[in-house]
Amino acid sequence: MRPGVAFSRFFLVFCLFVMPCAASTAEDSPHDTYEALNSLRVNPAAVYEITAADRIELRRGDGHFTFDLGKLAFFAPYKGQVTGVVFSGRGHVVAAPRDPVEKQQMARFLGAPVLDEAFSDLYLRFTDDTAAELLRELGSAGVQPIQDTEFAVRWDPIAAQVNPPQSLRILFAMESAHTQPFFYAAVEGNTRGPFDIAVDPDRFEAALIGQPKRVGAENFYDVWASYPLPGQPASRRRFTALDYEINTSVLADTSLDAKADIRMRAEAGGERTIGFQLARALAVESVAGQHGEPLTFFQNEGMNLQDRLSRGTDYLFVILPDAPEKGSEFTLHFRYRGRVIENAGNGVLFVDARESWYPHFGATADFANYDLTIRWPKKLKLVATGIKRSETEDGDLRVGHWQSEKPVSVAGFNLGDYMSTSVAFDASSVDVYANRQLERSLDGQLESHALQAPRILTPLSPEGHTGANVMAMSPPPPRPADALKGLAREIEESIRFYENLSGPFPFQKLSVSQIPGTFGQGWPGLLYLSTFSYLPAEAQLRAGLSVSGQEHFSELVPFHEVAHQWWGNIVGWDSYRDQWIDEAMANYLALLFADTQKHTGDHSLRMWLTRYRDNLVAKIPETDETFSDIGALDLGTRLNSSKSPLGFDQVIYSKGAWVMHMLREELRQPNAKNPDERFNTLLHTLVTKYSYRALSTQDLQHEVEAVMTKSMDLEGGHSMEWFFDQWVRGTGIPAYRVDFKVSSTEKGFLVRGKLFQDNVARSFLAPVPLYAGSTAGHSTYLGTVVASGPETPFHFISKTDPHKIIIDPQMTLLCVTQ
Ligand SMILES: [Zn+2]
Repeated sequence: MRPGVAFSRFFLVFCLFVMPCAASTAEDSPHDTYEALNSLRVNPAAVYEITAADRIELRRGDGHFTFDLGKLAFFAPYKGQVTGVVFSGRGHVVAAPRDPVEKQQMARFLGAPVLDEAFSDLYLRFTDDTAAELLRELGSAGVQPIQDTEFAVRWDPIAAQVNPPQSLRILFAMESAHTQPFFYAAVEGNTRGPFDIAVDPDRFEAALIGQPKRVGAENFYDVWASYPLPGQPASRRRFTALDYEINTSVLADTSLDAKADIRMRAEAGGERTIGFQLARALAVESVAGQHGEPLTFFQNEGMNLQDRLSRGTDYLFVILPDAPEKGSEFTLHFRYRGRVIENAGNGVLFVDARESWYPHFGATADFANYDLTIRWPKKLKLVATGIKRSETEDGDLRVGHWQSEKPVSVAGFNLGDYMSTSVAFDASSVDVYANRQLERSLDGQLESHALQAPRILTPLSPEGHTGANVMAMSPPPPRPADALKGLAREIEESIRFYENLSGPFPFQKLSVSQIPGTFGQGWPGLLYLSTFSYLPAEAQLRAGLSVSGQEHFSELVPFHEVAHQWWGNIVGWDSYRDQWIDEAMANYLALLFADTQKHTGDHSLRMWLTRYRDNLVAKIPETDETFSDIGALDLGTRLNSSKSPLGFDQVIYSKGAWVMHMLREELRQPNAKNPDERFNTLLHTLVTKYSYRALSTQDLQHEVEAVMTKSMDLEGGHSMEWFFDQWVRGTGIPAYRVDFKVSSTEKGFLVRGKLFQDNVARSFLAPVPLYAGSTAGHSTYLGTVVASGPETPFHFISKTDPHKIIIDPQMTLLCVTQ
């Protein structure tokens, strides 16, 4: 295979790298070094022909490469250091992660828990001793270098295309005093196509095996495995952001012209490079240091706007001239402009790059102060996070000034031709904003449905209506603004409900703004809610939502986002492994709130839990998988892959809510004055102890252990490890059935039987409550059997003759019963 074609699809997982950095005394500017590294090509005098008799090998992390037959060549050195190797021919790679969660993912993507693949082409870049090691191997096999210009030239276009992100990574390594060597392999697999193997200690998890995949118009990155290597030091924070001062103008064409000043602190000495998130649609004009001195930065190097939008990254890297000392503070000044506000038609605007419309530093648990000054066209309304200090008019523009009242991990705004309403509560208020018109896509959909609507709604209508008559009978188009009052009241009610569970509402104001699309986001004091959440049920159905979709947008989405005010905006998360906690909690609390709403009829906690369970165990259409099997909760966004584009939503919201529900049920003390006291204590502890910082899965387990009851200690040792292993780090939902016999004794009816557990590992433990069902349809609690293994025997004495045994009728356990 000619590598030129195969490698064109290589996508390098640069965005997954956590950037290192540190002091350097390089004479060249960072841009010079980058250009030099980028222009490195295969050295035609360093080509080695490997025959079947030679066995050349390389081990990196859990990966084992063998080069059986073909040509291996080294890049030309940069300042004496060789940073690249290529190979074409017949090679083989084997990689076998040991972690059970990673094995499960490997098996899911590869059909086996190991990667075992022959390859035709290989591109390596590294700062470790790969070159020296390979040279030694070649030397001991007696392979001598040959001059092969044709082979070298064949790799030129590939190197030109694949080098840039790796060159940047090597540059950062060269600039850093502390960085550990990294290794990256782009492999052209014979059966699996192109995939990546990386060993980079500066990543959150050093080892990565994965593959870019395109399905239809969507690009995915399928992570086959990602895990820390033994001995890898915990990733340390190099810098933190303390204050953001952002000054931006929304111009008449809705593009942004912005300035951001970020006060930072060096948490580790000797680091020079800082990575920021910034939407690729925004072009940085300048970055300046403390005293206005221009700083070197890298943003989608060498790409024009078209390239940037199609294959750029949303990252910006700034290189400081000197490494600040540990603990020292300094300010960076950014100027940038571009288009991050989208127009959805009919005057509906929305901010598309909500996380990256400013150079945003760090993870979600980076809490900082924000000061926003925004100018925008006078005819629009604009809402933003923080307390509004002022709003004035300046010619055709309005100028607003907002400051965060508490440290927040993100700031944002939204704008439109809004109508609004406000509901006051205590010292706070809920302000809901809606567009006057529907976005064009929905408008069109509703109109086309309206044309057919009368035939469905009025079956007695005579045939042969003219179009005009049909139109006259169509219901008027819904206006999002009609929902304002009702939505504001419900949101205010949910805040009061959550205050009982999670403590006082953390902000002075909650602004609720509309966004086209099918999702919501809950930011500090600012919600982005899908238009669907603003529509009446009838219009939601006409717009194409299913009944369950309609209920989801009306009953859960707004209140899920409100719950994020505590879970996400006070209690943060740091790594993708822990993101499930805030999502699961926000969704479970939304279910509890929905359960209190009378107008929802039977749309109670039970109904949602049933729906979620059924969805988790049902086959995903056109696949042989179920959402309960695709991956563990702690895989977070990795659940979204080419195999399951909606995996995150489907698993995290439903199974996550179930996990919170099971914890609540297990902590429940039915005879206590407040049966939920332990669960409530847990929630309050989490919100107070982890306020304005990250809560990890480990922390959560620890806090559950602090309130756990005796009956939760299934393994002994006062540990909830079993629960978190099975439900958070594991997959699968158990299925149960019972066999039993009843005999009459002096004490009552003796019920003897067996509980059968299926669909999960033999070691799976679960407390399964059994109830005796009478012919009259009543059920009485018999007792709880701790299922362990495929068969667990039990016996009970019952006062009544159990007509049948009902497994967990109160829905305390995520399981299916047969
Ligand atoms: Zn959420």
